[in-house]
Amino acid sequence: MIKEINSVTSLPRSLLTINKEAIRNNVKEITRFTGKKIIAVVKSNAYGVGVAQISSVLKDLDEVDTFAVATVGEGVELREIGIKKRILVLGGVLPEELRTLKEYGLTPVISDIEHLKVIGNENIPFHIKYDTGMGRLGFVNEFIMDPRIEGIMSHLSTPADRDFSEEQIDKFERIIRRYEGKSLMVHLESSAGIIYRVPFTTHVRIGLAIFGEKPLRDYPLSLTPALSLKARLISVKEVPAGYPISYRRTFVTQKPTRIGVVAFGYADGLMKVLSNKISLLWRDFKLPVLGNITMDMTVIDLGDCPARVGDWVTVVEESQTFGDLARRAGTIPYELMCNISERVLREVI
Ligand SMILES: *Cc1c(COP(=O)(O)O)cnc(C)c1O
Repeated sequence: MIKEINSVTSLPRSLLTINKEAIRNNVKEITRFTGKKIIAVVKSNAYGVGVAQISSVLKDLDEVDTFAVATVGEGVELREIGIKKRILVLGGVLPEELRTLKEYGLTPVISDIEHLKVIGNENIPFHIKYDTGMGRLGFVNEFIMDPRIEGIMSHLSTPADRDFSEEQIDKFERIIRRYEGKSLMVHLESSAGIIYRVPFTTHVRIGLAIFGEKPLRDYPLSLTPALSLKARLISVKEVPAGYPISYRRTFVTQKPTRIGVVAFGYADGLMKVLSNKISLLWRDFKLPVLGNITMDMTVIDLGDCPARVGDWVTVVEESQTFGDLARRAGTIPYELMCNISERVLREVI
């Protein structure tokens, strides 16, 4: 007989820790800065962090009156976790999804005339999305007026570009004026977009900033990093000078070196492009990654660090955020976070 234990979660070698207090602080800080209600964007398993864990923290906060996900399936998952608040489905609705959408009380964002056809005459409130320059989802030329409309939205493509963003904001304002007299939710700004303090929106749609990760280099909010990530050291050994490390020998020791092997690789979310480019941390020691990151393991230079087999080595913490690693990898923190695999145990403290 096969014993049924979930050994990945009961015997984890890597751990993503979510700090509840930091999440709460960030939500309060976003509210302080914007003065608006928050639509918490928890698509794609809350950016890879863990939708159940994040939602359990956010669901009781008055500042968050709506959640947003990408798909109807993710909306169902949120309801099953126990979320009673409004759930926006950013990715619209396809014909075979209508029944589930209704059954779970999800609110679709209508971005295409085909989504509207799917809704037909059903008495379902929905939001309309306009494309003001994102060049992805949203109406460009059509104008939709319907008594079931509960909200109007658009999305900024380049929040770091003030001129282009202001053009988008102006376009959106002209659209909103045509709904004058109606009491609607109006939302445009994401984590980065809130710097524009758009005067006519009622809500902001926030993902990244909730985790305390900055969406822009100069970000006027004081966020608290909420995520840390660590993994176990599974081997320590001394190798001589001139010793090649890991696949393809991209690093060769210059001197006798104490190396450590950490149970964390690209399958866990540490992108291979970071090979030879970053350090992991143990207390005050910075331990450079040596050679290629492999699927399940990464080799580090322990130097004089007294870390021993079984110790926890830090990949992400306040002093080394996902944003910091993303910059080294030539990408954005979103992508690194979404790469954190299921093998990594999530804990909320
Ligand atoms: C993901 C997403 C957001 C949230 O963006 P952050 O930068 O994480 O705050 C907002 N709006 C839309 C349409 C999105 O897809």
